[in-house]
This record gives sequence, C-alpha cells and structure tokens, in this order.
Amino acid sequence: MSGDLTHDLAVVGGGPAGVAGALTAALAGRRVVLLDSGPRLGGQYFRHAHGASPEPRFARQAHALLQRADVLLGHQVWALAREDDGLVVHTHTRAGRQEVRARNVLIATGAHDRPLPFPGWTLPGVLTAGGAQALLKGENVLAGKRVAVAGTGPFLLPVAAGLARAGAHVVGLFEASGGLGLARHPVMALGKAGEAAGYALALAAHRVPYRRNHAVVAAHGDDELRAVTVAGLDRDWNVLGTEEVACDALATGYGFVPQLELALQLGCRTRADADGTPVVEVDARQRTSVPGVWAAGEPTGVGGWTLAEIEGRIAGLAVAGAREVPGLLRRRARLRAFAAALQAAYPVKAGWQSWLTEDTLVCRCEEVPLARVREARELGATDARSIKLLARPGMGWCQGRMCGFALSCLAGETQQPPRRPIAQPITLGALAEPPQKER
Ligand SMILES: Cc1cc2nc3c(=O)[nH]c(=O)nc-3n(C[C@H](O)[C@H](O)[C@H](O)COP(=O)(O)OP(=O)(O)OC[C@H]3O[C@@H](n4cnc5c(N)ncnc54)[C@H](O)[C@@H]3O)c2cc1C
Repeated sequence: MSGDLTHDLAVVGGGPAGVAGALTAALAGRRVVLLDSGPRLGGQYFRHAHGASPEPRFARQAHALLQRADVLLGHQVWALAREDDGLVVHTHTRAGRQEVRARNVLIATGAHDRPLPFPGWTLPGVLTAGGAQALLKGENVLAGKRVAVAGTGPFLLPVAAGLARAGAHVVGLFEASGGLGLARHPVMALGKAGEAAGYALALAAHRVPYRRNHAVVAAHGDDELRAVTVAGLDRDWNVLGTEEVACDALATGYGFVPQLELALQLGCRTRADADGTPVVEVDARQRTSVPGVWAAGEPTGVGGWTLAEIEGRIAGLAVAGAREVPGLLRRRARLRAFAAALQAAYPVKAGWQSWLTEDTLVCRCEEVPLARVREARELGATDARSIKLLARPGMGWCQGRMCGFALSCLAGETQQPPRRPIAQPITLGALAEPPQKER
C-alpha cells in the first residue's frame, strides 16, 4: 500500500490504543498509516524482544494491521501541522526527514515514567520502573541481581513480579502509599482480579516482601549502586525510621506522565485528570477540540492497556464514520472510573520533598541541585517556568520529562501541560534537511 497520496487516517503510536484504532478504521475500509518510533509494534504493555512472539491476541491484531495498513516503524514523529490539504505528520528516520499527509490524525503516543528525585538517584543501577520493565521485556535483560522496587501505584506489581519470575532476587517492593494491602489492592476489583492474583502469587512464590508506607529515600554507592535507605513513612510521606538494604539495582516509579506534545502543537484543549495531571480533552467518540484530530490511550488519561485499546477502537469507528457500539462505551466508562479510583488510592504526597538534601540533583541533564532551585525561588521565581529560566532545570536533553513533575511540586504550582515545540529530540542537521514528501 505504499506510494499512496493522502491517507484517511494517520495514527501516531503503535501501542494498544494506536493499533486498535488503526485496525478498526482499516477494517472499515479507510486508508490508514501508523507510525511508531520503536522497532516493533506493541507499545509499553505488549513490548517484546526481537524474535520473541508477542502476546497471541496482540499478535493477531498486529498481523491483521500489517495486511491492511501502512506501518512505518522507526519513525520519530516530531511535529504535527495543519496545511490546506489536511494534516502533515513530520517524522525523522535513519534515512532522514519525511512527511506523511492525512485527513485525520489519531494521537496514541502513550506516557512516560514519572520519577521523583532523592539523594543518589543518579547512580548507575538506579532505573525507572518502566525502564527496568522495558529492559526485561524488550531485551531480556535483568536490571540487576538483587533488585529493590519502590514508588507508588499498581504498576510496581508487574515490575516486581516480572523481575522475580525472570530470576532476580527482589529484595522488596516498597509502596509509599498505605491503606490498601495486596489482598484489597484495587487491581483485584473490576475484572482485574486474575491479573492481580497472578502478581500476588509470583511475589509470594519468590518471597518478595510487600511493604506499604515504605519508600527508598536514598541510594548509596561510589561508582554504582550498592544499597538503598528504606524509610517507613507517615501518611504525608515524612520519614519515621530508616534501614539500609543491600541491592545492585533499584527500579523506581511514581506513576506516569501522558505525552501531550503533538496534541498541544495542534492546539488541542487539555484538562486536569483526577490527580491533577494534564491530559487531552476528548468527547464521547475520542474527538479532541481540533477538527480531524483524535486521541486515545494514555494521552487522554493514564488507565492501563485495556482502556487504551477500547479508546482506540472507539476512535477508529468514529473516524470511519461507523455507528457507536454501546458495549464499548460502557466498558470505557467502567475502566475510566477504575482509573480514577487508582489515582485516588495512589497520590504523590508532599513529604517526598523532605527526602532531598541541598545537593540532591533535581535536574540530572543540567545537573541542577535543590539549592539552585531554592535560590531561584528566593530571587522571586514563583513557578516552574521562571525557575527554569533562572536555574536551567528542564533545559537539557530530556527537556524536563524526568524533572518536570518534581519541579512543579517544588514550585508549589499545579501541573502544567509541557511546552515543547519539537516533540522528540532531533538534531539541528535533521531539522535543516529538506523533507521527502509522501512515501
Ligand atoms: C515505560 C513504561 C512501561 C510500562 N509497562 C507496563 C507493563 O508492563 N504493564 C502494564 O500493565 N502497563 C505498563 N505500562 C503502562 C502502559 O503504558 C499502558 O497500560 C498501555 O501500554 C498504554 O497503551 P497506549 O497505547 O496508550 O500507549 P503505549 O503502549 O505507551 O504506546 C505508545 C506508543 O507510541 C509511540 N510513540 C510515542 N511518541 C511517539 C512519537 N513522537 N513518534 C513516534 N512514536 C511515538 C511509542 O513508541 C509507543 O510504542 C507502562 C508504561 C510505561 C511508560
């Protein structure tokens, strides 16, 4: 199907939401192109190593999609723009810049990890929970031999279970939030009982301690991680008491940040999700506030792969002009309520700021310690953007993806949508190249 002129739909993102949206629209007879920066379809949940078989249900969807649509892998989409004849997707590949044109765009770009800084978090051996999971699923590589898993939220369960099943000694799962034990864990509810039971069994079989109201508040080592300080926390996450635990890897995560850059480039309206996270506003059929632009999956609110897939199907049907399927709308409503309940059960509490010392790096790319952030505040910077202009946190390679959430908390402001005119880091040379039109 290559060499087409304008497509009916360009989908950015080949995770559960993007693949479901693209396949649904293609099955309804629309000409579809899907672009993903990764080497394989699957996104975060269905990530698999080269040569390994993906989960069978997803494999069937991906196979069907490859028969019916253009699938462009290894394409980093760095901008979306509107021109007279439709929407233009600007991508960067090893072969150079390309432009793909379509009448509609579905943004299904997922989310990235949300880490919190603490003393020692820049040591080799300290990873985000998503990073440890991606290494394991995508490369069959264990993050370490003795691994601590820490942070908050249900995503820590599959990470700890996966590492333990793959042969790591998981020295503990330290969940900063309290109140809900594993048996009453929210993933037990709403059809997730089987999934949660699987994780609980894996943790029990491998004797992984599950400790609520506990967090890793410091990491120690000279050139690499050798131990972490685990603290008991009060309900606001202030430290009650500490102990040192030996480990050579730490997987840590405090939720996810939806990737909104492409939607913001086109001017899509955002809203604050249940926990205050900015997400793309969509209507009942996953339409954004901008005509011809749709969004599904994590950019519209973090809620897991099942919700992402359903949202993708609803968007695909809508783009194709097909009728709504009431069953899908009901399942989406149920899963969204479940996602809101999870966000309420796992809030990030302000006490984490007391774990930091003056020399703790808040922004690791630009090496900005807490002291410089405080200085900027004393000089009159009252929000994250002014702090960034004075002290440079968020100006480095990751453009605030790692430190943006923490910096907003330290500035005492509500979370703001990201301001990144270029969605993916690309070189100036690549930007200056003349793009190849259409494929
Ligand atoms: C690092 C990480 C690991 C996770 N692992 C798990 C897990 O093991 N279990 C679990 O239940 N949930 C996991 N999650 C949560 C998971 O994201 C969702 O449940 C589910 O995968 C969401 O589906 P999605 O289609 O919305 O997004 P994703 O699955 O994240 O798919 C988004 C896709 O968009 C692509 N993309 C993003 N931006 C661009 C761009 N500019 N150009 C081109 N392509 C782009 C990405 O490469 C990715 O393939 C993980 C999340 C993260 C961030």
